[in-house]
Amino acid sequence: MIDEKKALITIFGGTGDLAKRKLYPSLYRLYRKGYLNKHFAVIGTARREWSDAFYREVVIESVGDLAESPAHVAEFASHFYYQAHNVTDTEHYDKLKELSETLDAQYHLDGNRVFYLAMAPSFFGTITEHIKTQHLLTDHGYRHLVIEKPFGHDYESATVLNEQIRKVFEEDEIYRIDHYLGKEMIQNISAVRFANTLFESLWNNRYIENVQVTLSEALGVEERGGYYETSGALLDMVQNHVLQVISLLVMEPPIKLTDAEIREEKIRALRSIRVMASNEVNDYFVRGQYGPSETDPTLKGYRQEEHVAPDSTTETFVAGKIMVDNFRWKGVPFYIRTGKRMKERGTQINIHFKNVPMNLFSNEDQENLCPNILTIFIQPTEGFSMRLNAKKVGQGLHTNPIKLEYLNPTDKGLNTPEAYEKLILDCLNGDSTNFTHWDEVALSWKFVDVIQDTWKQNQPDFPNYASGTMGPACSDELLAKNGHKWFWNEIG
Ligand code: NAD
Repeated sequence: MIDEKKALITIFGGTGDLAKRKLYPSLYRLYRKGYLNKHFAVIGTARREWSDAFYREVVIESVGDLAESPAHVAEFASHFYYQAHNVTDTEHYDKLKELSETLDAQYHLDGNRVFYLAMAPSFFGTITEHIKTQHLLTDHGYRHLVIEKPFGHDYESATVLNEQIRKVFEEDEIYRIDHYLGKEMIQNISAVRFANTLFESLWNNRYIENVQVTLSEALGVEERGGYYETSGALLDMVQNHVLQVISLLVMEPPIKLTDAEIREEKIRALRSIRVMASNEVNDYFVRGQYGPSETDPTLKGYRQEEHVAPDSTTETFVAGKIMVDNFRWKGVPFYIRTGKRMKERGTQINIHFKNVPMNLFSNEDQENLCPNILTIFIQPTEGFSMRLNAKKVGQGLHTNPIKLEYLNPTDKGLNTPEAYEKLILDCLNGDSTNFTHWDEVALSWKFVDVIQDTWKQNQPDFPNYASGTMGPACSDELLAKNGHKWFWNEIG
């Protein structure tokens, strides 16, 4: 039985890219499935002067091919209202309040409010303050604030931002989106670990040699050069997605799979990550920037991209070794790498198990006794695979590496929820498991700040990897120091 949600969702930045590409299609998916039905309304607000009719056309267009029928999507869009609004202008919040109350009565929304800030974080303080002073918060129903990354640009700015928001919303009313946490296979990390004796019993430094997390993109910065210049791979990927994935891999089994229990374990996991001293950073982390492709003249270097300085030192690639100082993980390197314009697009986690204590086959066939590797494919492929050794058919005691593979068909369309769809539904359900708590944000920034402060003091020698490769040589050298090598699991 689908439990229909009642809420008024106010989207600040309703004309923006995120709203059109992600939020409206996700809301429609929830509508198709019946989670949203009669008792919901959406107010889109932004600076532009749009009519409700025009706004609804934009919503219908953004839903695109997902539409069940023109009548169905039109019915969905009839729940959308537009309010032109400059976020710094107090009197607009009064109009917003009036419209909210009218819609609440019309759709019977029980005072439930979701405020989705799909805008630059520099506006978060102003918006939340006005939400309070202009009485947009109801005294019945819930009030959930959804905010997008980036959450600050270092620990200090994140703290300021958090304090502004916390003047109005309690921590458990704040839903900080990390869309990676909405992905099916990220949520599946817990299933792989905690629903399989086979893995959980080996999930420690006695059996695991190293863990590798790769988030690689084949695209460059495209038209986002301006934004990327202020961010770079460290802030865009490592501070949030990468450290979140690490915390899920590292954490202890929670007592229950509830948001509070999982969060507690994730925070403990992040607390056990070794924070480097400044003079250690270069031993643990390396950076890169893509140059032009050596084979494809259409692939420019980062410095030749639009809105990028010709002498930019922004990193488009980061690789690092993360050490976790606790009983379970002492001594196991967690290698991470993320970059743009790499050879292939894909996110995968590779768990390398230690070799058997004595290789009985080594004299015969040393090459073929490979370590067992569990791969968790996050995207675009979803699933996991296990590499094992089996006897080669025929005479003699030779082995062959074989692969057991489970791939989730991703062509399920509506059956495979999109990350934003899941996260919006979680928020409507009041479940914050897959959102980032302030303590996690704070710990992540403290870890990343040491790296960014150190890097600011040294000029990197960029570009140092060609477009279409798996990153700079220093990334391979980082692993070679420990006798390890990057592994990339080809599908099939
Ligand atoms: P965008 O520039 O496309 O949209 C910004 C919106 O804010 C527009 O609707 C604009 O009209 C509105 N706006 C700007 N100034 C305003 C003002 N003074 N008063 C009222 N409205 C104003 O940005 P976006 O790409 O949609 O991103 C929104 C947020 O989501 C940002 O924090 C971004 O970092 C984050 N985000 C976006 C994506 C994405 O895929 N686009 C992904 C992850 C995070």
